Amino acid sequence: MSGISTNSIHAADEVHKVADVMTPIHVTTTYKYDDDPEKLIKDEDLPENSIIGNVVYSRETNPNSERVEKLLDSILDGHTVAYTSGLAAFFAALTYFNPKVASIGKGYHGCHGILNIFSRLKGLKQISLEDDLNQLNAGDLICLETPVNPDGTVFDIQYYADKAHERGAFLLVDSTFAPPPLQDPFKWGADMVFHSATKYFGGHSDLLAGVLATKDINVKNQLVKDRVDLGSNISNLESFLLIRSLRTYELRILKQAENAEKLIKFLVDNREKFPKLKKIYHSSLQTEPFVRKQLSNGYSPVFCIELESEADAKQFPSKLRYFHHATSLGGVESLIEWRVLSDSTVSPTLLRLSVGVENIDDLIADVDQGLRSVA
Ligand SMILES: *Cc1c(COP(=O)(O)O)cnc(C)c1O
Repeated sequence: MSGISTNSIHAADEVHKVADVMTPIHVTTTYKYDDDPEKLIKDEDLPENSIIGNVVYSRETNPNSERVEKLLDSILDGHTVAYTSGLAAFFAALTYFNPKVASIGKGYHGCHGILNIFSRLKGLKQISLEDDLNQLNAGDLICLETPVNPDGTVFDIQYYADKAHERGAFLLVDSTFAPPPLQDPFKWGADMVFHSATKYFGGHSDLLAGVLATKDINVKNQLVKDRVDLGSNISNLESFLLIRSLRTYELRILKQAENAEKLIKFLVDNREKFPKLKKIYHSSLQTEPFVRKQLSNGYSPVFCIELESEADAKQFPSKLRYFHHATSLGGVESLIEWRVLSDSTVSPTLLRLSVGVENIDDLIADVDQGLRSVA
């Protein structure tokens, strides 16, 4: 199999039917039926699973969403289904598994919001990852986010896969913080992998998208059918933007991971220079053996720090030149967020940093002067 950099440019060449080197932007919502009356087939007479490859109406499928999925299939090494956002994908996963009990740890607040909707609508019982997982029964679900938002702590995927499978339950992994080639949850037993493609796959802070990956084509077929009714297929324009992004995907993620590791090393090595810096959280600082195994090609480009006081944390972003103060992560530009602004569950002294592809010496100098001026 070819490498990620090759596949993320060429994996959809076979469904590229025009002379344009870059894919065209199809903004149409509807597609003409065949001119030949003999070739018109009623919906009810179409073979099962003929949605993909048969463009009729863009909520069902469209040329660029199919192209995106081909590219993502190759990157995630599975059958992928793309959605209008990460949360639309997570909602679709919950709809597919339809568990009675779901176990979930900390993590992205929106995923908790979706579980709360399922609890409200159909009495889904939620337990934490630390609870007794023997409460799970066949068909139930563990939702594991690793590395976890916001601090990037890494959890042992294989451990939770075994726990789920012992009970006949499933494991869904939110791998947004460490996309390939950093981490492959399938290798450690995940049944389904979820990404907010808004983050690293998009990488330019200009598109919203989500993706589910499965090893089972029958699961994909069901997800595609559900998606028609949920109305959450990735849109035409967003697909175009994502195709554009994937062409440089591996360059970006590897550079971002490398930059983050260097920045962390600088902070750790110069700790005594920064009396206000109280804590540093990053997957490269976690010592359990599974961490290195799971993140064999690099650590997440996201990390957190805690400063001495809430006032310090509140003013720190304003001291930086290259880290924009904004929520989200994964883009080519570095971002920092005083996290309590968008997540009330975290300490008000916490700052989340998403490292971009800028020159690392500039980023280090920026954080260095920022920490000294807050002190
Ligand atoms: C952003 C994010 C999501 C939600 O994705 P959207 O594309 O914003 O809907 C889910 N999980 C994690 C870990 C995220 O960072």
